[in-house]
Amino acid sequence: MMKRLITLVIILGIIPVFWSCTSKQERMESRLRKFISDYEANVVPLYREAALASWNANVNGTDENWAISEKASFGLAKVYTDSAAYAELKEIKESGLVKDSILARQLDLLSDYYQGGQVDPSMLAEQIRMETEISKKYSNFRATVNGTELTDNQVEEILRNSTSSKELQTAWEGHKMIGPVVAEDIITLVKHRNTIAREIGFSNYHEMTLKLSGQEPAEVTEIFDELDNLTRNNFAELKNEIDAYFAKRYKIGIADLRPWHYQNRYFQEAPEIYPVDFDKYYENQDPVKLVAAFYEGIGLNVDPIIANSDLYEKPGKNQHAFSTDIDRAGDVRTLDNVKPDSYWMNTLLHELGHGVYSWYNDRNLPFVLRDAAHTFTTEAVANMFGRFATDPRWMMKMGIIDDAESQKIAEVSKKSLRLQMLVFSRWAQVMYRFEKSMYENPDQDLNQLWWNTVEKYQMLAKPEGRNMPDWATKIHVALYPCYYHNYLLGELLASQWYSYITTNITQDQSFVGDKAVGAYMKQKIFMPGSRYKWNEMIEKSTGEKLTAKYYAKQFVE
Ligand SMILES: [Zn+2]
Repeated sequence: MMKRLITLVIILGIIPVFWSCTSKQERMESRLRKFISDYEANVVPLYREAALASWNANVNGTDENWAISEKASFGLAKVYTDSAAYAELKEIKESGLVKDSILARQLDLLSDYYQGGQVDPSMLAEQIRMETEISKKYSNFRATVNGTELTDNQVEEILRNSTSSKELQTAWEGHKMIGPVVAEDIITLVKHRNTIAREIGFSNYHEMTLKLSGQEPAEVTEIFDELDNLTRNNFAELKNEIDAYFAKRYKIGIADLRPWHYQNRYFQEAPEIYPVDFDKYYENQDPVKLVAAFYEGIGLNVDPIIANSDLYEKPGKNQHAFSTDIDRAGDVRTLDNVKPDSYWMNTLLHELGHGVYSWYNDRNLPFVLRDAAHTFTTEAVANMFGRFATDPRWMMKMGIIDDAESQKIAEVSKKSLRLQMLVFSRWAQVMYRFEKSMYENPDQDLNQLWWNTVEKYQMLAKPEGRNMPDWATKIHVALYPCYYHNYLLGELLASQWYSYITTNITQDQSFVGDKAVGAYMKQKIFMPGSRYKWNEMIEKSTGEKLTAKYYAKQFVE
């Protein structure tokens, strides 16, 4: 009561002589409280509306539903373009007077959201127009191989299955012809994005994207350097193994291997050198039942999530999978197209990992903080669980295979996951370093930059004399910019948590039936939401900041 009176006096400016630090602080904090309560009144319903509309459009993709979804998303995005609101936040933040940790954290997040919205609307419209144009060019492009037009999936099929170097090269080169179609447009777009970034106070778009999502570029680069050092030698050894395998498969010398020999357009996925067929184990299983039983067993009930979800294929439905938190108050859903195979077992475990992260948030926290610490931290939880789908110990404990079978495939499963992880990690290095350098200087020789990076990190041999915009063939470079590194950070954190949990929380490498796992995750990961910065949350939950060490320990040594 006393405090309130003093605050009132201060606000009215009656006796400024008696202003103390504390009362200045209270005044500023109450200004922020007012801002937040107006914000919540405005945004909570808009957020829910946008999330529901997007859900409906994904479940039933009619033009009408997509139009409703687009309108609702725009309505939410528009909130953050309010320049008066941003000025208010800026003033509060620059005063340095907000000390309450919950308020200060909300202030940081809200300032970032609004700063990202302070773009000249015509600049933003121009960016969206450019992106749409490029997007159409990717969609309409078909690789022409020996006079036949091929989809990306058909190109991938040839790369995976053909053993003729000639055919592989033709398919790979055919696909790369999208490069010259979009390269100039992408460079223009990159420069445009940089202009926007500079307008709101950043040196380039890469820096802006990372910083506004709470990541310091130097911090991310340091982790990528650490991982590069930890994986380089082992990857080189594995690469020799891969090369020996392929030289034999294609009946050519190792020195003659080229990027088209690695069963993938970008060498981003593991080649199939340790074939083990996990699908056959799931043929007679119900992945939905398995996933519900597994999460229940570790003390994370997913029944309310499953009840709100859309699990099976139907016409007009999104063919992929995602998880969404409709209202940050318990309406958590996942969209899947479940089939009895290892891919969907992995996907369900993954999506419900996102699901439990949302479902078990602390509903006493303010709306802004009832979210993951970062998109990559929820990705990490999802990845950690997803990996179990091809983990023989987990499959055995869940009654999918017997002990003998589990032991039989243990070695090859381990090797295959290790290969997958190492190949992906080197590819993610290429994406992160290329994008960073491209936004720093879009006028440099990007073709050269791309191949230098590919040679260095993926250790692939550049085809003789090649000078093509091969970087432009990866759609993420153009349309999902400066995000790729989060996939890898998610994998690193998945390993860090897995190592922490199997060392300190449970004796069981598969987690099956151990409720201590769920209790730990609820308390240390889910309930804190985004009230701490991601690295602080990681430190609080594992005793260490994010490190590549455990990923290396799990997959390198
Ligand atoms: Zn995910």
